[in-house]
Amino acid sequence: MGHGGARPGGGRPKGSVNKATADVMAKLKALGCDPFTGMAKLASGLFPCPPCNETGVLANGEACPACAGAGVQPVPLKIIGDMNAELAQYVAPKRKAVEMSIPDGIDVRAEFVDRPPRQTREEWLAARERELGSVVAPAGAATGRDRV
Ligand SMILES: [Zn+2]
Repeated sequence: MGHGGARPGGGRPKGSVNKATADVMAKLKALGCDPFTGMAKLASGLFPCPPCNETGVLANGEACPACAGAGVQPVPLKIIGDMNAELAQYVAPKRKAVEMSIPDGIDVRAEFVDRPPRQTREEWLAARERELGSVVAPAGAATGRDRV
C-alpha cells in the first residue's frame, strides 16, 4: 500500500480549466453561444433581435413584430445595469475590504501643536509654581480657603 497524499507535480496545471468547465465551454461553442458577447450586447442597451436575426424582416418577408423592423430590441435599464456591473468585474476586479491593525507599542494618537507636553502632576505643579511664583497646593492637600 502507498502512503497516500498528493504527488508533487500531479493534478491539473494552475490556470487550466477542469473537465466540467471544458465540457460546458465545448457545448456553448457547438451552439454558437458566447455568453460574454451576449452580456456585452445587453450592456450596450440594444440587443440584436433574435426572431429576425437583426434584419428586421422575418423569413416570410413580413416586418419583424418583435423589433418592429428595427433589427434590435431595447434592453430594460435594470438588465443594462446588471450586465455592466457583471462585465465590470472582468475589467476591474472587485476590491476586498482589508483588515488593518496597528502593531503594539505604536502610538497613533494625534498630537496637536497647541497641546501642552505630557507631564506628571508634580511636574505641572512645579512649572505652575515657577510661572506664578507662588505655592500651589498639591492634590489632596487643603484648599485655597485655608491659605488666606
Ligand atoms: Zn426583429
